[in-house]
Amino acid sequence: MSTYALTNANTGKVEETFDSIKTEEIPHIIETAHEAYTEWKETSLAERAEILNKFADIVDQNADELADIIGREMGKPLAQGKAEATKVAKTARWFAENSAEFLAPTRLPASGAEETYVRHDPLGVLFGVMPWNFPYNQIARFVLPNLMVGNAILMKQASICPVSSQRFQTMLEEAGLPAGVYTNLYLNSEDAEKVIEDFRVKGISLTGSEAAGASVAGHAAKHLKRSVLELGGNDPFVVLDTSDVKALAQQAVTYRISNAGQVCTSPKRMIVLEEYYDDFVTAAREALENVTVGDYDDPTTDMGPLSSESARDEAVERVQQAVDEDGATLHFGGRKLNRPGWFMSPALITDLDIDSKSAAQELFGPVVMVFKAKDEEEALELANKTEYGLMSSVWSEDLEKAQKFAARVEAGMTMINSHMESDPAFPFGGINKSGYGRENAQWALRGFTNEHLVRVH
Ligand code: NDP
Repeated sequence: MSTYALTNANTGKVEETFDSIKTEEIPHIIETAHEAYTEWKETSLAERAEILNKFADIVDQNADELADIIGREMGKPLAQGKAEATKVAKTARWFAENSAEFLAPTRLPASGAEETYVRHDPLGVLFGVMPWNFPYNQIARFVLPNLMVGNAILMKQASICPVSSQRFQTMLEEAGLPAGVYTNLYLNSEDAEKVIEDFRVKGISLTGSEAAGASVAGHAAKHLKRSVLELGGNDPFVVLDTSDVKALAQQAVTYRISNAGQVCTSPKRMIVLEEYYDDFVTAAREALENVTVGDYDDPTTDMGPLSSESARDEAVERVQQAVDEDGATLHFGGRKLNRPGWFMSPALITDLDIDSKSAAQELFGPVVMVFKAKDEEEALELANKTEYGLMSSVWSEDLEKAQKFAARVEAGMTMINSHMESDPAFPFGGINKSGYGRENAQWALRGFTNEHLVRVH
């Protein structure tokens, strides 16, 4: 049973609670969304783009307020919250500007007819299930392209983000989106199937854990609906060579503690060639010692609290298990802080076997794990020893070597000399247990369309 509440991650205090919708209200909510869809799909791309551009302006104008809401809900430091708002506005503008090109009918050889083409028509009402780690951006990546397509959306955001999810709806409405085209639902997870099974709901997109993904995609399959899944990752960050190991370790730590380590594309396994390994570990430890853990609204904070008590406790337990059960060496951190709120110290772990449970499971917290590889081949073997396949990065000054390596990494995305990049212009998504389907760019505009063939004789 999901309880929608704003619990301040800084203080641990419940500030506000919200009633979930009742199961028997669901058919009426779907009907309202379906009716809104039948009018929305008749609007022009130019009208939809105008709304998205206005929405982008509203997001920019309210970035401070938006950052403060999620700072309280899930602990994101204000600077990172504002950066998230900027990303949402950028995504809105990108889809406003580029959707017409990608949604124009695809012309095919006429092949015996006067004309043959494929229209990219909307499907109807879609259902989104989104997580708390990027409360606005996760919604934006699914919703904004689908509004351009002409679909309508029912959204279940994580129960710890009730204020930001409602604010997303009010900003769309302030921008001119007709009521019912986007509806934020305080929906219990147990009622997800009630939404999915309804014939008027045509597709489901979920970002979150494997368990939630398997449950929702299972219901979708049972009711013959399309789904897109963005699940976790256990991303390799592979250091083949570097002229400045200290700076690289510092950068790796900065990525890893961003959002208190609660990022699907965070570099969760640092794989470092033997000759750089000792210096990398030393420099990573120094970098971690200098991380300022503090309140989300303190400008000196590098890392805020984790999103919830259970998220913090699980991350701390996972560090302990790595040491107790899998023989890891803990160099630094990994403890609860003795203060209110969901704080922990960031951690550094080495000497884990890549096949151990601790290394194999995604660790959603600020824990740097470093693995030693004797050569490139072993680095590749370690990088691909995962059931996930989301982001990955290769670090080398030899770009040809790095690209050859990148081609052999089994993941949806590989960055060379960078990590954790996402941009509305590039596809985002994974393979294997990281899910399927792609968000962003033109791929996001084709996940939930009817590829409608027309032949004119
Ligand atoms: P969940 O997957 O449980 O939550 C994500 C969303 O799914 C929330 O809206 C949640 O709702 C909903 N949900 C959960 N179970 C179901 C279900 N059976 N049917 C329908 N909706 C469901 O993530 P957690 O918050 O529990 O985090 C657990 C782990 O998931 C993390 O440690 C991390 O490994 C992974 N995760 C990955 C993310 C990513 O970006 N890839 C983001 C968040 C988590 P409610 O809040 O009501 O439970």
